[in-house]
Amino acid sequence: MSTTWGRSLGTVWDRPGARAVPFGSNSMQHGTAVFEGIRCYATDRGPAVFRLDAHLRRLLESARLLGIRHDYDLTRMRQVVLDAARLPGPDDRYLRPVLFTAEPALGVDLRRFRFELAVEVYAMAGPRGGRPEGAAGLRLTVSSWRRPPATTFPPQAKATGSYAVSALARTAAAEQGFDDAIQLDQVTGRVAEATIANVFLVRGGLLTTPWLVDGPLAGITRDAVLVLARRLGVPVEEGPVTVADLRRAQEVFLTGTAAEVVPATEVDGHPLDASGPVFSRLVRAFSDTVRGRAYGELGWLTATSDH
Ligand code: PMP
Repeated sequence: MSTTWGRSLGTVWDRPGARAVPFGSNSMQHGTAVFEGIRCYATDRGPAVFRLDAHLRRLLESARLLGIRHDYDLTRMRQVVLDAARLPGPDDRYLRPVLFTAEPALGVDLRRFRFELAVEVYAMAGPRGGRPEGAAGLRLTVSSWRRPPATTFPPQAKATGSYAVSALARTAAAEQGFDDAIQLDQVTGRVAEATIANVFLVRGGLLTTPWLVDGPLAGITRDAVLVLARRLGVPVEEGPVTVADLRRAQEVFLTGTAAEVVPATEVDGHPLDASGPVFSRLVRAFSDTVRGRAYGELGWLTATSDH
């Protein structure tokens, strides 16, 4: 099947003359880079970036958490990311700004390195975003690999190195025939999130997502879904979620910039309604929002042509 989902459209470098990152770069060797994933969508009024500033604020926060020194503020980052949004190619795309060091030097004292921004651009075109897997819904398993506790690594820091943990859990799940893994908080043993997405569940009409105490990333799609649910009058709560809660749920779905809002068909063999009423309403509201058909007053879309 031919798909353009995930095909690279190119790289926007902020440093003049930059063409590649040396293999010996500290970020490559030690995973010492922080990053974001941001969607750009085709709308009736041209391409628009979804929640640009929220993503860039989180990138600045990730850098701060790791003690990374750099010369960027929101305005300068916005310019580089919007340049990436305007690279030739389909409007539906995924922007991956990475704040990294190209310096080919060893050591893990990050104060010694100069960090710079570059943005990789990936096409996300096709039906259902062209996603090859999980078109009808995801088969999930609870992973035996837990998320590192907040005392080991701050869950709100999106650092490239920490994604080896997600890769471990996701690969192990795939080896067992599942699409994704649910990871538990190391300390409480409660549900934190999936490997690169947040988790929601519905039981008796109540929408619940794990509270941040249990270590999920404060996902921007998670936040969008909470806001939209409240607007739709769906009762919502952020709270503790156990594995038993997942098993007793009628609907489970994941949210993330890449995944968008995607339902699960099962958790470890326990069947779920992948087209449940709450999921269906939310996925429609989400799609209307990112396509500029509704909720424009939220100010979540930045037209790429206005800048
Ligand atoms: N959790 C993890 C670990 C992630 O990597 C992501 C993707 N950024 C998410 C949740 C979802 O966050 P967002 O909606 O901001 O993409």
